[in-house]
Amino acid sequence: MTTHDAWTLVCRLFAGGTPVLRATLSPREVSALSMLGKAVRPTVVDQFFVLCPHCQQHRAQVWGDGRGGRVCRCPECGQVPVEAIDGAALALDEDWLRQKMRLALDIESRDDIYDLGDGAWRLGNARSSPVVLARDLTRVLHEPTLLDRIRVAGSNIRVITPRPRTTRGSSFGSSVEWLALEERFTFYGGVITFIPSVPFAVPAVADPAAPVNGPFSADFKWATLPDVQSTPIRFTQGQAKVFEALWSFKGAEVDGERIMQRAGQKSDKPIDLFKIKSKDKGKPEHEARLAAYGALVVTQQRAGLYAMPCSATGKGARTS
Ligand SMILES: [Zn+2]
Repeated sequence: MTTHDAWTLVCRLFAGGTPVLRATLSPREVSALSMLGKAVRPTVVDQFFVLCPHCQQHRAQVWGDGRGGRVCRCPECGQVPVEAIDGAALALDEDWLRQKMRLALDIESRDDIYDLGDGAWRLGNARSSPVVLARDLTRVLHEPTLLDRIRVAGSNIRVITPRPRTTRGSSFGSSVEWLALEERFTFYGGVITFIPSVPFAVPAVADPAAPVNGPFSADFKWATLPDVQSTPIRFTQGQAKVFEALWSFKGAEVDGERIMQRAGQKSDKPIDLFKIKSKDKGKPEHEARLAAYGALVVTQQRAGLYAMPCSATGKGARTS
């Protein structure tokens, strides 16, 4: 399990391209660090905002306290002293990643890595096919000349990127094969391994998390809410059913019981499925689900009415 966590962290750090504050790592990510060795190295970020060291919930601006120290002003905790340690951050050794990716793909080492600029690198040729590692799929899609620069007649180009939040809009032509960094590679025992494609690979554009119904994926198991989380938020089966039911009412205010009936859930109120159990307190995936619920569902507690404004389509469907 931690092997998977370690690779997920590598992919996240590569996708972000900047150091992350150590305080923002989940406990699983922290435990995954030991497996990564020197691939992830400590650094310090210059910061005007920190994650509140007290509640770890809010990002707060940092101020001088007038006595040479620093405080952050958390909306919930008020003034909280910020120690130097709170700026402790981690950065991915991207050269390490590129070298290990080359090994994973059997790219000959006499073939140099070529920096294509703006977070894209030509790793070399794997069986005479050029391989590109890029931070951002969208950027590569929107700049076709980038691939023209390295195209080899008669060969496909492989483009490896972290899975994007959405793949709306465009896709590559047939001469380009896209590989999701998270899914087509693994990390174990200090080695990155390529997972060869299965014969009936799904097309690159079939992203199960892609927003189809407003911010929700086709099956309501994912929501793309950049204000809540930079990556799509994954819901449990029950939570997805609740959102799907709320969606079906097109923004109208509906009695909680009726929603839960349509969702086929035993609880009385939609919120019940999002409440965080004490054992899950502080776990980012649970916090994100609850935050998504808070961002999408409008509650009239006294009347017991619920509405999801983002599902309102026709005029007048939204009652505020
Ligand atoms: Zn706080």
